[in-house]
Amino acid sequence: MSSIRLENLVKRFGSFTALRSMNLEIANGEFLALLGPSGCGKSTTMNMIAGMEQPTEGRILFDRRDMAGVPMGRRGVGFVFQNYAIFTHMTVRRNLDYGLRMTGRPAAEIRRRTDAIAELLDLTALLDRPSAGLSVNILQRIAIGRSAVMEPAIFLLDEPLSNVDAAFRAVMRTELKALQRRFGQTMVYVTHDQLEAMTMADRIAVMDHGELLQVGSPLEVYNAPANTFVARFIGSPGMNLLTGRLVETDRGLAVDLGEPGISPPLPAPLAAAARAHPRREVIYGFRPEQVHLTDEGSALRLPLFLAERIGARTIVHLGSTEDTVRAVFQGNPALPEGVLSFAPDQAGVRLFDAEDGAAIRTS
Ligand code: ATP
Repeated sequence: MSSIRLENLVKRFGSFTALRSMNLEIANGEFLALLGPSGCGKSTTMNMIAGMEQPTEGRILFDRRDMAGVPMGRRGVGFVFQNYAIFTHMTVRRNLDYGLRMTGRPAAEIRRRTDAIAELLDLTALLDRPSAGLSVNILQRIAIGRSAVMEPAIFLLDEPLSNVDAAFRAVMRTELKALQRRFGQTMVYVTHDQLEAMTMADRIAVMDHGELLQVGSPLEVYNAPANTFVARFIGSPGMNLLTGRLVETDRGLAVDLGEPGISPPLPAPLAAAARAHPRREVIYGFRPEQVHLTDEGSALRLPLFLAERIGARTIVHLGSTEDTVRAVFQGNPALPEGVLSFAPDQAGVRLFDAEDGAAIRTS
């Protein structure tokens, strides 16, 4: 096991800055997901941890040891890419034990470790099969196993599930988590899929445009997003964000959401934080799944655009010309024709500054 520390890490490609001063501590045995949209700098960060790219500025430390000048092969990292590279002329067993054979371990140990990893990844029945002709799903499983069998102190996975099908991805999420628990490695997992990050990681580092925006447990980033980008990126669908203006009403501080003339009141702690905030222009945020149907005076009333009934829940798209707001209800509730009257659960309301998108936090 090994901890990882990124200190003021910067990566520039010519005049383009791919990573701006990243600071991050990953604990021994932690499963950290680097999450963000395409091009935000996830792979660049990962490649520098692996030793495939050199930082322009800053330091990378494993267990307080500076990795500057330490080649990839000496870093004790295992790396699995989106595009596996399996030797198709070899059997599954030969692919899995390839690295162990290179290190010249005793045959009995190689066999024991390979059998264990095959068992964990459901590859036992295929061990003596040639790899050629196996499905993409199985090949990626072999690629993961081949790296895991080396029991690296640090395991780096860069979008390992993006080429496999949806059903298999769900299975692999569970298996990867089990694998990491079993070996207790420090795992860094690059993904643009918030569901993968939310279901597997101990902590998620959310990135955008070369910047680290927030680091926290899945529920921390879900419940208390640092800004509007994180609020929208986490969750499926993401948080509803409506621009508005803080106004004093006889019901206390509220947010005037403009055209429909709706001014939902704010819960007391958030109202106190908003009063202390220097700007009146805000973004009113609430999760689609944290709403309830109501006719109360402060309810939001929006035209029902589309209802997706998917069994366990119903996703309602609301708005007059486009679906600007979404609401998610458990099960299959009866919904009115035309206009839906609902209110966000007070405890789930969040406010952000309209200019820079930063969360207005309660103390
Ligand atoms: P993706 O999921 O699409 O790989 P990412 O978040 O992993 O996205 P990176 O691959 O780290 O993003 O790339 C970050 C930015 O740096 C991108 O704009 C990319 O075009 C740029 N970049 C990456 N490698 C190089 C390079 N060798 N030379 C120039 N620009 C690069």
